[in-house]
Amino acid sequence: MALGQNGPVTAQGYPQYAPVSAGLYARARMVTPGGVNSPVRAFHAVGGVPRFITSAQGPYLTDADGRTYVDLVCSWGPMLHGHAHPHLVDEVARALAAGTSYGAPTRAELELAELIVGRTPVDQVRFVSSGTEATMSAIRLARGVTRRDLVVKFAGCYHGHVDALLAEAGSGVATFGLPGTPGVPASATESTLVLPYNDREAVAATFAEHGHRIACVITEAVPGNMGVVPPVDDFNGFLAKTCSAHGALFISDEVMTGFRVSRRGQYGVDGAGWRPDLMTFGKVMGGGFPAAAFGGRAEIMAELAPDGPIYQAGTLSGNPVAMIAGLANLRLADHMAYDRLDEASARLQRMVSEALTEASVPHVVSAAGNLFSVFFVKDDDTTMTSVRDFTDARRQDSHRFKMFFHAMLQAGVYLPPSGYEAWFVSTVHDDQAMERIAAALPGAAWAAAHARSDGEGKR
Ligand SMILES: *Cc1c(COP(=O)(O)O)cnc(C)c1O
Repeated sequence: MALGQNGPVTAQGYPQYAPVSAGLYARARMVTPGGVNSPVRAFHAVGGVPRFITSAQGPYLTDADGRTYVDLVCSWGPMLHGHAHPHLVDEVARALAAGTSYGAPTRAELELAELIVGRTPVDQVRFVSSGTEATMSAIRLARGVTRRDLVVKFAGCYHGHVDALLAEAGSGVATFGLPGTPGVPASATESTLVLPYNDREAVAATFAEHGHRIACVITEAVPGNMGVVPPVDDFNGFLAKTCSAHGALFISDEVMTGFRVSRRGQYGVDGAGWRPDLMTFGKVMGGGFPAAAFGGRAEIMAELAPDGPIYQAGTLSGNPVAMIAGLANLRLADHMAYDRLDEASARLQRMVSEALTEASVPHVVSAAGNLFSVFFVKDDDTTMTSVRDFTDARRQDSHRFKMFFHAMLQAGVYLPPSGYEAWFVSTVHDDQAMERIAAALPGAAWAAAHARSDGEGKR
């Protein structure tokens, strides 16, 4: 056994010595399935004990064993300004003292809606409590407005755990989706068509055959849930135009990218000449609280209850504390904030790539602006130089990632515990945090270099 900063390293290569977290995890497993409330938190992709977090400040997390980590998960995106930002804490404290939920409209939700409408191409938004609820509602609205049933999605894109969107492609192009999990009836996915991402021909062929029955195409504005896979050659614009030509709606899911990749999300990056019919937001816009939204063209949104016939509702929708947190998060996100985010992300991408190159670890840093992830490439895979779709993403070397992850964790850097997740920085990832990452990288790159390259390229 070698001894790392965070305790002994086992024969498998990852530290098991997190006794307080391990105890809490064992207790949690008794009362919660897998001990966690969202699967990836359980560390199944990397093994070892998930760290129980007790507090967080700026770019750092502290776990129940008293160790601190530079946080490169940032609650999977929301914490754009790091943890416990003083302005956010003040605003939320005041909101709490004014009562936490009224079930009636407030000025804060109106102002957050105005802010979102001002920064994005949507005319109106409706608030919900999670990204899942946002995409579920957007799809219902698209089907209700078009009076069509078929939904097109892309393999590897994640839109929350909506039944119709938990579909896996059958073989070949334009096959109807099969449920991706037990518990989803075939009837929920038989109206879902799953296509390869970035594949214009597949989209064109599908519309040629089924165009008159397609209600909508939904895509992540930049897929970030199979690792980061950038859209190639204005793929989003192509989808928008194809939908429009066939009377289908284009839903751009910006739950991850919205207000993170730019002030105006990925739409602000993609440019002009088209706009999505519907968009979904979450993560950053909730400032770390459960808030999300879907929005779009006024005439589409007018079809929603109470003015229109399509039903959608929520007891805690537009929760006043969440709205105040979201407002604070977005108001702090000025041009300078995005300069800092872009700079921190670019610096991190460079550092990781240099360390891996130095250790002769084949890899691809796959980025779209400040959103990025790192794919480890298997030894015998000589052709993987970029990642275009889910088939490419699954070629990654999960075992190498696992060894890299645990070496980083041991050295005090908390990465997303799966090679299929984006890495997130914040505006407060400063020199000190970066230096700690820089200090951790050579050892982690060494661990990856000496790991056996293996074949389990699956989540
Ligand atoms: C996180 C995410 C969702 C789901 O949001 P939840 O709040 O976890 O339900 C949907 N779409 C995308 C692109 C996401 O990244």
